Amino acid sequence: MASFEKILIATRNAHKLEEIRAMLPGVTLVGTDAYPEVPDPEETGTTFEANAAIKAEAWSAATGLPAIADDSGLEVDALNGAPGIHSARYAGAHGDTAANNAKLLQALEGVPTEQRTARFVCALALSVPGASTQTLRGVCEGRIIDALTGNGGFGYDPLFVPDGYADSFGVLAPEVKALLSHRARAFQAAKDLWLK
Ligand code: IMP
Repeated sequence: MASFEKILIATRNAHKLEEIRAMLPGVTLVGTDAYPEVPDPEETGTTFEANAAIKAEAWSAATGLPAIADDSGLEVDALNGAPGIHSARYAGAHGDTAANNAKLLQALEGVPTEQRTARFVCALALSVPGASTQTLRGVCEGRIIDALTGNGGFGYDPLFVPDGYADSFGVLAPEVKALLSHRARAFQAAKDLWLK
């Protein structure tokens, strides 16, 4: 596909932007900070892909740049895919990690190990002015354990053990997560499919 001179990454999270810069070397990335006047769109979609597309389309329309947006979360099979697109506000307030993790543990109380399968999902959308939006997803399969472990990572990481490992992302080194994660896989696919 086309190579772009400059791509807008539709995130207000500086830490995420730096992570993405490391995953996409050789591409000039601009953050949304350069456009303080542009409001964030409402994420009214019912899938990760739909919400990523809403964000990417809003930002490419506002700036005239190709824009990539992400939307991510945790799907737990025993909970029919919850918390899903509501991962950040599972327990009510946006980003209340302790409450979200407590609610997840409670929801899975008594569920045996083999039924605690789950995955982190990261959908990406690329919106280029004048072209139709494309989406893709990266997935990291694993399971939810029955107590918080480790202080690493963020969000649900202390409860999530990726397949092939014995420890949660809260315990595993950040380098391990950087290789395995849903976000890493999604951006690798973006590099292969969109940025060649
Ligand atoms: P967002 O895409 O950054 O808005 O992430 C939505 C929510 O999904 C976060 O607030 C976390 O609860 C959860 N989440 C997404 N990615 C991760 C991860 O890598 N580890 C743990 N939780 C995550």
